[in-house]
Amino acid sequence: MHVTFSEDELAFRDEVRAFFRNEIPEDIARKQRQNVPLEREDHIRFQKALFSKGWAGYNWPIEYGGTGWTIAQKYIFGTEMADANSPNIIPFGLGMVGPIIYTFGNEAQKLRFLPDILESNVWWCQGYSEPGSGSDLASLKTRADLEGDHYVVNGTKTWTTLGQHADWIFCLVRTSSDVARRQEGISFLLIDMQTPGVTVTPILTIEGDHEINEVHFDDVQVPVENLVGEEGKGWTYGKVLLQHERTGTAGVASTNYRLKKLRAQAARSVRGAAPLVNDRNFMRKLAATEVELKALEFTELRTLAAVASGKAPGPESSILKLKGTELQQATDALYMEAAGYYALPYVPDQYVLDFPEDARVGEGAETTSSLRYFNFRKASIYGGSNEIQKNIIAKHVLGL
Ligand SMILES: Cc1cc2nc3c(=O)[nH]c(=O)nc-3n(C[C@H](O)[C@H](O)[C@H](O)COP(=O)(O)OP(=O)(O)OC[C@H]3O[C@@H](n4cnc5c(N)ncnc54)[C@H](O)[C@@H]3O)c2cc1C
Repeated sequence: MHVTFSEDELAFRDEVRAFFRNEIPEDIARKQRQNVPLEREDHIRFQKALFSKGWAGYNWPIEYGGTGWTIAQKYIFGTEMADANSPNIIPFGLGMVGPIIYTFGNEAQKLRFLPDILESNVWWCQGYSEPGSGSDLASLKTRADLEGDHYVVNGTKTWTTLGQHADWIFCLVRTSSDVARRQEGISFLLIDMQTPGVTVTPILTIEGDHEINEVHFDDVQVPVENLVGEEGKGWTYGKVLLQHERTGTAGVASTNYRLKKLRAQAARSVRGAAPLVNDRNFMRKLAATEVELKALEFTELRTLAAVASGKAPGPESSILKLKGTELQQATDALYMEAAGYYALPYVPDQYVLDFPEDARVGEGAETTSSLRYFNFRKASIYGGSNEIQKNIIAKHVLGL
């Protein structure tokens, strides 16, 4: 595959590069450099800066306020964003429920929800998984019973990322059990988190952060107009969304950025000790990870090209999710190895802002590598575990 950019695309790249260099609020850029987690308001300010530039709908068609970018532009945007160490775009609104609403929602829903999603006025979270229903999602038990002009929702969703910040949640709920296949009778419902009967309880992740939650529904009344598409067809909509999610979780551009940074840091010596580039075993592992990432980058480009030609990302997105998250975790392990015993004292207090910006491995921000290492154990679980991706690849890609 041959990747070259036209004059216009190169000009676009320069514009994107300048935006990420100059328009990310400085306090947010500094937190990013120092590996300090962002607050809710930081994410919103960053996304509003994108909105002001007209780029919030990076993945949306023009008719709904999106950029209508070509695949090459999206690729450039993603790469420049990663290379600038920019905050991520929180996917639940712009990347997930927005596209579901403009694809399957009615006109009233489009008018009501899309502008606030684009402008990041409303924070969304994703309510698919339940205690006991993760990989086997079709076994989900949260019920929505139709009573007059509203559904009454009862049940529990779990692992809800950043649900503590959310104003709204999009849920897969069971509206009928009288079905031939369990995938039928599941519906896609939008629920205001302020509705009486919704409660959120935190779950702490292995490194001690509050990133995920349980969301409980106790006789929650949801107006019927919040049903997206047809009742009982939620599985179809949810599956489309999962394939987009898996394509997005590969994180090729950001792993590429992290590997480049690690290679540069490995060239420096720490307190007079020999630099890591002299460690042939470490450099061999670094090079092997870089080569595998390059191969994945081309797989991603092929998938993007297929999407550009009008196809939805199919089961091939499982290859991206599987390999992309394996390489994220391999990169995390290399950072741990590079930091050596400096990575050991992993406590949230390490999130301080006084590291020198050109910190060397073991002397600065990289001592937070264990926080990242432990946090990113999640990558091989969320969006469908990597074992499940292997099953999908075997069945739907290899035809075994
Ligand atoms: C940090 C984090 C954030 C998340 N955020 C969200 C969110 O915002 N919203 C949301 O809805 N969900 C979210 N999830 C949930 C995620 O999608 C599920 O954890 C995932 O689908 C796995 O389900 P489970 O946890 O129930 O594990 P289980 O399904 O119980 O699986 C347990 C183990 O068994 C393996 N296994 C299960 N079935 C098979 C099989 N058929 N073949 C081979 N191996 C199998 C799995 O791979 C896994 O290793 C998040 C998860 C994490 C860790």
